[in-house]
Amino acid sequence: MLRAPAAGLVAAFAAAAGAEFATPARAGAQTELTPDAALKELLAGNQRFMRGRMTALDVDLKILKRKTADQQKPFAAVLSCADSRVPVEFIFDQSIGQIFVCRVAGNVITSEIIASLEYGAAVLGTKAIVVLGHANCGAVKAAMQGKAAPGQISTLYRYFQPALDQAGSNLELAIKSNAKIQSELLRKGSTVVADLVKKNLIKVTAAYYDIALGGVTLLE
Ligand SMILES: [Zn+2]
Repeated sequence: MLRAPAAGLVAAFAAAAGAEFATPARAGAQTELTPDAALKELLAGNQRFMRGRMTALDVDLKILKRKTADQQKPFAAVLSCADSRVPVEFIFDQSIGQIFVCRVAGNVITSEIIASLEYGAAVLGTKAIVVLGHANCGAVKAAMQGKAAPGQISTLYRYFQPALDQAGSNLELAIKSNAKIQSELLRKGSTVVADLVKKNLIKVTAAYYDIALGGVTLLE
């Protein structure tokens, strides 16, 4: 059963997990999260991760799996790279049903990714979308070096060109530029997201994950 999770965690679990994890007064708190509060909860989770004080696994996962089997109400979405050093739920200290995660090498916006994030926003009610670049991203680095690669790997390179044009040979700058460019592409390329942003019902922001230190920094 429950072992005194952080307040933010209770709020985030409430709608998906029900009264077993929160007092009735708090149940449904997740759906009331503002875009700023959703972002704040992600960053608070990252602070817990950095300090080694994670609480996401304090809840009985068996019960949580059962409670979320028929529905999900994630409070935020994250588009991250597929890189194994970026375990999204870990770095934001979140558990089952809390964040809607899309992953693709270089965290690029494609029509399939837009479709997925639109589903998260319009159907599931995510309040924030974070486009998360990360330090030493191999996809951006390979594109920067113009490396020949087997199979279809190099088809990714074209997505990074605008960032490479901005950043020259500075890899960290290219990774950060790419996250901001993909974030902007989502805001402009999705009518669903653009509409929600306009109504202040969702926030879309780029962020950068330092894989050595474990910290996430907002870029916008
Ligand atoms: Zn990467």
